[in-house]
Amino acid sequence: MLTEAPKGTKDIYGAYMDEWQRVEKIMREICDDFGIGEIRTPIFEHTELFLRGVGETTDIVQKEMYTFKDKGDRSVTLRPEGTAGAARSYIEHGIYNNPQPTRYFYIGPMFRYENTQKGRQRQFHQFGVEMYGSYSPSLDAEVISVAYELLKRLGINDVMLRINSLGCPQCRKKYNDALKAYIGGNIDKMCDDCRSRFEKNPLRVLDCKEERCQNIIAGAPVVLDYLDDECREHFETVKAMLDEMGIPYEVDDKIVRGLDYYTRTVFEFVSNGIGAQGTVCGGGRYDNLVAECGGQPTGCAGFAVGIERLLLVLEAQNGAFEKKQEKDIYIGAIGQAGLVKGQGITYRMRSAGIKAECDSVGRSVKAQMKYANKIGAAYSVILGDNEIEQDSVKLKNMATGEEEPVKVSELFDIMMAKKA
Ligand code: ATP
Ligand code: MG
Repeated sequence: MLTEAPKGTKDIYGAYMDEWQRVEKIMREICDDFGIGEIRTPIFEHTELFLRGVGETTDIVQKEMYTFKDKGDRSVTLRPEGTAGAARSYIEHGIYNNPQPTRYFYIGPMFRYENTQKGRQRQFHQFGVEMYGSYSPSLDAEVISVAYELLKRLGINDVMLRINSLGCPQCRKKYNDALKAYIGGNIDKMCDDCRSRFEKNPLRVLDCKEERCQNIIAGAPVVLDYLDDECREHFETVKAMLDEMGIPYEVDDKIVRGLDYYTRTVFEFVSNGIGAQGTVCGGGRYDNLVAECGGQPTGCAGFAVGIERLLLVLEAQNGAFEKKQEKDIYIGAIGQAGLVKGQGITYRMRSAGIKAECDSVGRSVKAQMKYANKIGAAYSVILGDNEIEQDSVKLKNMATGEEEPVKVSELFDIMMAKKA
């Protein structure tokens, strides 16, 4: 127990962390290019926020939340997603008073008590984008273009965009009635989860991943047939904009997404290469969310990408991540004087942006040279009493094996010149 992380959590380190940082850097660059500012909201919120924001009938609220009483007897919940907290913040700070739209992104951990499997953890991380203050299809298209750009810049090629429209609450009501009638006639053949979903919110049934339920779902009425003129027009415009941007997509009338807040556009980016948990990104429009969380009705759209799933896709595509070691110079030592001098030069170099490393574990000279190779040092020196006394040392090019005599006192300037 003591030396094992809790089930469904993962330590992030080494080569995996390097790849993570590369991905996160690209996310931040894209947000900078698209004019999307970072927001950091608390890891826990009042439980009520998620009951209202995520929705009482969702799997998240029904069975996945980490909810507990704090020492002040308040019910708080570790955030299972980022959208509700961001909306709460948007309302709390009166951000709707600024010229709209507002564009936010977040990167951080989310918590869901789930059955763990590949691509499904209890603590996982999302990169999410939220845009507020517009009912225009432009907002939907823009949000989708951010997610698409991310996959493009990461060089991911087996991920497909699927989109659908759930219409507005009026269309949804008509559709719900039709769905209820259909599912009601088949419910005895469906799983227990679907039976309880059917009671609370028939739409949820479409989200079921069980095969026997999938077979029934395949014959269900299609939401796109129930869109009113305005919702249809909205969806058509989103698609026309995607065409104009050159973003390929497939219309998938079975996508409903796992959260209650969606209206009109919903979309997913799905990979075929990482098994059952293939959805790397999910999003859409949620015009009722801000009002549901206590604000004024506000058009908004967004998405969230699962970072771990994204890394699974990258690994499946590009092979195992490798720890890259890159150092400019290794400054080895024989004896106390070299050790002390080396520490000083190393610090000066690091301060100036040269990636230097010196002996910090007392290795033998032979072991130091081996280590210099291992960490990918471009150059190395070994400082002994003689070298320091005569102000002369051999600077070795690790790639070619060539050695050039240099002054110890000029080592810093020489390395600066090489780096420039
Ligand atoms: P799923 O259908 O896979 O359960 P979801 O609809 O619950 O996904 P969202 O709430 O829309 O997912 O979250 C967006 C993204 O976050 C998902 O597409 C996925 O990449 C990632 N994600 C969701 N839950 C997990 C989890 N338990 N572990 C790892 N990643 C997750
Ligand atoms: Mg889920």
